[in-house]
Amino acid sequence: MKKHHKFSIWYFIVGIWLVLIMQNYLASSMAVRTIPYSEFVGYLEQGKVAEVAISANEIQGRLQPEKEGDRPQYFKTVRVEPDISEMLNSYNIQYSGTIESTLIRDLISWLLPVFLFLGVWFFLMKKMMPQQQGFMALGKSKAKIYKQEDTGITFQDVAGVEEAQAELEEIIDFLKNPDKFAEFGGKMPKGLLLVGPPGTGKTLLAKAVAGESNVPFFSISGSEFVEMFVGLGAARVRDLFEEAKKNSPCIIFIDELDALGKARGVGGYGGHDEREQTLNQLLVELDGFDANIGVILLAATNRPEVLDPALLRPGRFDRQVLVDRPDKDGRKKIIELHLQKVKRVGDLDIDRLASMTAGMVGADLANLVNEATLLAVRAQKDKVEMAQFEEAVERIVAGLEKKNRLINPKERKIVAYHELGHAIVSMSLPDTDPVQKITIVPRGIAALGYTMQLPTEDRFLMSRTELLNKIATLLGGRAAEQTIFEEISTGAHNDLAKATDIARSMVIEYGMSESLGQVYLKGDAKGQFLQPGLASRSEHSDETSRMIDQEVRRIIDEQYKVALIIIQEQRNTIEKAVKVLLDREKITGEELREIMNDSEKSG
Ligand code: ADP
Ligand code: MG
Ligand code: ZN
Repeated sequence: MKKHHKFSIWYFIVGIWLVLIMQNYLASSMAVRTIPYSEFVGYLEQGKVAEVAISANEIQGRLQPEKEGDRPQYFKTVRVEPDISEMLNSYNIQYSGTIESTLIRDLISWLLPVFLFLGVWFFLMKKMMPQQQGFMALGKSKAKIYKQEDTGITFQDVAGVEEAQAELEEIIDFLKNPDKFAEFGGKMPKGLLLVGPPGTGKTLLAKAVAGESNVPFFSISGSEFVEMFVGLGAARVRDLFEEAKKNSPCIIFIDELDALGKARGVGGYGGHDEREQTLNQLLVELDGFDANIGVILLAATNRPEVLDPALLRPGRFDRQVLVDRPDKDGRKKIIELHLQKVKRVGDLDIDRLASMTAGMVGADLANLVNEATLLAVRAQKDKVEMAQFEEAVERIVAGLEKKNRLINPKERKIVAYHELGHAIVSMSLPDTDPVQKITIVPRGIAALGYTMQLPTEDRFLMSRTELLNKIATLLGGRAAEQTIFEEISTGAHNDLAKATDIARSMVIEYGMSESLGQVYLKGDAKGQFLQPGLASRSEHSDETSRMIDQEVRRIIDEQYKVALIIIQEQRNTIEKAVKVLLDREKITGEELREIMNDSEKSG
């Protein structure tokens, strides 16, 4: 689409200008001089005229070359004497024929511009309509599938993403020995989706899997599928899978799957049908092959939420591997890894570097090492020192700050207290899901940090107390901000939405409110589905609606008070834990419990 806008009137202007230059050049190289008639007569008398061609009003002619090998000189002049043949005869000049070169000259000076115009026109057409020249492109390079026999990349080239690596181990085992797996009747996942922010090393990991298992690596990116000419996307998918089956065991890697696999029926403008066809073909191929033949499909995306749900169904990309932003420890390892390639390294405080680079991903860190090296070269140092790294961090951070707000230390602190608030409240109340870990590594846009709580078992029933505790936990973040900073931030809006949802459900669905009683007050869910327009029609009176709102508010307020009390009681714990969290960017539930026990003993 972008190419269309590049087309401009300038192409025409340049084209015409070229034509003019060409003509000028031709004219001057064949220099036809217009001379006065008298001069012509003079040449005749001097015997310099070689030949002439006479038309009704004009005489054109060629002069005798002055020396052997000189360029012929042409002239023309306006005819004055009506009877010129006698005069020519008297000078013995050949005049009956036309000048041989006029025809060619005329042809060139007329045809050349025409060809030039055609050329410019074709060029423009090519520029303007890349999609519509399918007939031209069909023949050539049908499939730009990149096959690498050996990616040359192994897990040695990847650092700080151990969790993802561990999940990929199984695939590697399988690819090394597909027959053995088949013998045991094991079933491999067909498709594995690497999910994570840009630059965290998804592509790198995919290549490393191929390198580790020593199998060929077929790669193509989703956007390449889509940029294809009409009808070829689907063919390409077919080719890709066919080729891969011939080469099994091997890996197919589709980078930027979101470009191809966006949910169907969204954002449809031109080329959208094409993408849909390609996606459908991909689904067909996914369903049609058996992983046990030794082909593993890997894909990467940083926007899993836009993927067509059909892609994520069992038997397709049913397994997802999170490739997250590295925490401090991970960043340390990545920096160390990239430093190995730098030949002259001075004394570096890697730990401090890792602290300074909060929020950066692997690609940023690789860039950082490179920048610092360049700075050292430019400053004519013989080693890369901390000073260059500091300067490079500043540069990169300045660029990142706009994109990534979490590098700001003040916000980091707020997020740390907020997340600890959730965790502490949850740990102080009975019947809550145990806290696994807390991190303040920035993730998506919405969640600045998170507290991971794993449910001990899958829950179908929840008691009233459990629900209330859940609300208190959700409000714990804001309660901590309030207690510590005496100021609340916008960071809690997601928590508030969830807490309100639970409280509301308690009142209108579960009949857990004393003042409203055991009544189901929610409108018919199925009806809402069928007629979204009528969804807001409530089944109860305005008075009841008001009471529901009041009840919801009362529940939230009460639980907020509970959270505030816990936070105040545990302030010591929070202050101690926040130091660890700010330093390491993560803390496990166990560590937090220890700190809590310690401060209870001492307090
Ligand atoms: P993604 O595909 O997730 O956007 P890439 O795999 O393309 O990221 O990473 C780009 C570059 O950044 C890599 O080539 C590598 O140099 C560096 N990089 C990213 N993540 C890591 C990592 N975990 N370990 C080492 N280098 C990394
Ligand atoms: Mg990538
Ligand atoms: Zn929160």
